[in-house]
Amino acid sequence: MATVYNWQLGRAMTFPFEEKHPRRQFAFVFNINRCIGCQTCTMACKSTWTFSKGQEYMWWNNVESKPFGGYPQHWDAKLLAMLEAANPGRQYWKTAAADVGSKPYGTFEGKTIFEAAPLHIGPEEAQVALGYLPSDAEWRHPNIHEDTATGGRWNEGQHGASAELPEHRVWFFHLARICNHCTYPACLASCPRQAIYKRPEDGIVLIDQERCRGYRKCVEGCPYKKTLYRGTTRTSEKCVGCYPRIEGSDELLGSDGAPCETRCMSACVGKIRLQGLVAIAEDGTWSHDPANPLCFLIRERRVALPLYPQFGTEPNGFYIPPRWVPRGYLHQMFGPGVDHALEQYSCPDRELLAVLQLFRTQRQILFRFAIERGPKVAEVPVILPSGREKVQGPVRPEPIEQPEEQSGCAACPFHS
Ligand code: SF4
Ligand code: SF4
Repeated sequence: MATVYNWQLGRAMTFPFEEKHPRRQFAFVFNINRCIGCQTCTMACKSTWTFSKGQEYMWWNNVESKPFGGYPQHWDAKLLAMLEAANPGRQYWKTAAADVGSKPYGTFEGKTIFEAAPLHIGPEEAQVALGYLPSDAEWRHPNIHEDTATGGRWNEGQHGASAELPEHRVWFFHLARICNHCTYPACLASCPRQAIYKRPEDGIVLIDQERCRGYRKCVEGCPYKKTLYRGTTRTSEKCVGCYPRIEGSDELLGSDGAPCETRCMSACVGKIRLQGLVAIAEDGTWSHDPANPLCFLIRERRVALPLYPQFGTEPNGFYIPPRWVPRGYLHQMFGPGVDHALEQYSCPDRELLAVLQLFRTQRQILFRFAIERGPKVAEVPVILPSGREKVQGPVRPEPIEQPEEQSGCAACPFHS
């Protein structure tokens, strides 16, 4: 096992391959507050990539109703329980150590799926990444428990009080999911055939269909359960990040060659999705690029957070958490950055508000934004989740630097 640095955990961790990184990384932000659960994204993906025989139960994009829904069923609750069993009572964060640059959420003191794997000896000895193979029944329903709320305090005689912030008494939310094209992919690590690779030009994780023998170790190892087995070809398949669109080579989109967002992003009715490519330095850190909307939301303002960062794969999908959900649930799902993110989102200054308007403004990938400042027209006081009152602040005064352009190279960073 090698030692690699995971900025989301704020520490080094073990991984089967030496640390190597793509020049740019496919990444995205989903704003859960806006998702209406219409499944347009799901059908846009299905009608593009998984409409053939043997792919009937294959949903590369899915939207599940939390807390009860999941595809496959209970995927996250099951893995969280396995991690807890492997490291009882010690799966916690040390937030006092937070540093905006290298450890923005503090330090995760527990064990990742790579570190817990040797402690869990299954029928085939220890795994590379702690995981399990879902049953056929668990794959059967893409959104079982759709729109089913939780919360046992509905009938307290306070009609309508359930909808008061900061936490609703009765709640659910839609969690849209695709492959996170992780920095340290557990699917790649688990594959005994080295059939899974990460593209150096954009960090998209792909399965080589020629090399795959359908052992399903990737299905077992991916903590997000985003590789899926296809019985008719006896291989595993997964989200390909709509790479012809990223490459600007999809003929249906025109001939200008501009990188375009994926089908699921482009189709989003609720305008919850913003996708991009972020420049990655040689040591794996994100290049300082605050004019890139993704870098701004994720690294500068920390308003969008990784999904289950404690799993340890450094996922490149980020979420603006839902404002109305009990904080304990959100802390488990998105880590200790939740309170800061919600304070930011609940009363955005004008610069953040401007960037939040960029979601679904065009289908080309946005690499830069610039703000032309106009006169102030209003000041609205807002009560924050903490109870503090805040007035919408001024645009951040410091200038935004423009980093140099980066170009791609030609071999998978892990297997080269
Ligand atoms: S989400 Fe799963 S399938 Fe996608 S790169 Fe990460 S480990 Fe692999
Ligand atoms: S299309 Fe957008 S709003 Fe509709 S379910 Fe998908 S992510 Fe949510």
